[in-house]
Amino acid sequence: MRLSEIAANAEVKYEIAEAMRRRSLPHAILIEGEKGCGKHTLADILAEYAVCRAEGERPCGVCPDCVKAQKGIHPDIVTVDGSQSGALNIEAIRNIRSGAYIKPNEAENKVYLLLQCEKMLPPAQNAFLKVLEEPPAHVLFVLTAVSATTLLQTIRSRVRTFSMYPPSPAEAAEVLEKMFPDKPQEVLIQAAQDSSGNIGAAIECLNSGGEEEKKAAEAIFRAIPLAAEYPLLLQTNSIIQNRAFALGVLERLCELASDCVKASCGVKRVSPVAAELAGGIPLKRLITIQRNIQQAREVLNYNVNLNFYGTWLCAALRRNENGGNYG
Ligand SMILES: [Zn+2]
Repeated sequence: MRLSEIAANAEVKYEIAEAMRRRSLPHAILIEGEKGCGKHTLADILAEYAVCRAEGERPCGVCPDCVKAQKGIHPDIVTVDGSQSGALNIEAIRNIRSGAYIKPNEAENKVYLLLQCEKMLPPAQNAFLKVLEEPPAHVLFVLTAVSATTLLQTIRSRVRTFSMYPPSPAEAAEVLEKMFPDKPQEVLIQAAQDSSGNIGAAIECLNSGGEEEKKAAEAIFRAIPLAAEYPLLLQTNSIIQNRAFALGVLERLCELASDCVKASCGVKRVSPVAAELAGGIPLKRLITIQRNIQQAREVLNYNVNLNFYGTWLCAALRRNENGGNYG
C-alpha cells in the first residue's frame, strides 16, 4: 500500500486505508498540515485511488490509470497549485466548477487536486462553495492547506478534514533512508534533525546539498597543499554552519581523496577534477591527506562543537605523515 510512503500520521493513514478498502472515500477532502508533513504525497495517493480500476486493493499501482497518475499525465487528474499566481482566483475556480460537471475522459472518476488552498481568497472560496454544495458523483476534490482555518467555515463544513503532523526526526530519517539509499545514515539523521522532521525540507536540503557540498569539498582539497594556512582555514570554517552540510562535505572529500590516490596510481576512470588535483601532489602526500580526511570524518560523527571543529579540521588536514604540520 502506497500509504506506507508517508511517515508517521498513523491515524490518518489508518482512516484513509479503511475508507479506500470500503470504497467509501468522501467526495471532498481537506488535508491540513505544515510543509513537508506528507500532504502532497497523500493527495497523490488519493488521486491514484480515484482513477484506479483494479478489482482488488486500490490504488493497485500497476494498472494503466495508476501508472499515468504516477507520471502526472492522467487526463482525469487536474492539479492546481495555489502558489502560482491566479491559479485559485475566482475565474480559475469557475473554470474548475464547470469542468467538474463534464464526465471523466478515461477513468470512472475525475480528481481535482487543489494545492496550497491558503492562497484561495474568500470570493474564490465562495465560488468554490457552489460545486461543493452539489458535487457531481464522479468527482473527488482534494484540497491541501497549511491550516483548515485559512478556509471559510462554510467550506470546512463540507469537506472531510484530515490533519497531518510532521514526523519525529527518527521517523523522518527512516523514510529518508528509503529515498536516499546511497547516503550515509548519519547524514540522513542529521538532515532529519536539522529540519525538525519536516521531510520536504530535509529532501530539499539533501538534494540541493549535493552540488554545494561538492564545490566546498573541492575548494578545501585545493587549499590543503598550499603553503599558507589561511586559505584552508577560510574554507574549513565555511562548512561548519550546519552539521548535515559539514558531514556531506567530508563525505565528498573522502571520495575525492580516494579518487586522487587512484589517479596517482594510474587508474584512468576517475573524475577529471580528481585527476587534475592528483597531478600536483606526490602520492605519499595524497595518502596522508586521505588518511587525515577519513579521521576528520570520524571525529565529526562524535558530537563535537562545530565552531572548534572548523579550526581543528584545518590543522588536521595539514598534518604530515610524521604528525607535524606542513606549511
Ligand atoms: Zn490501479
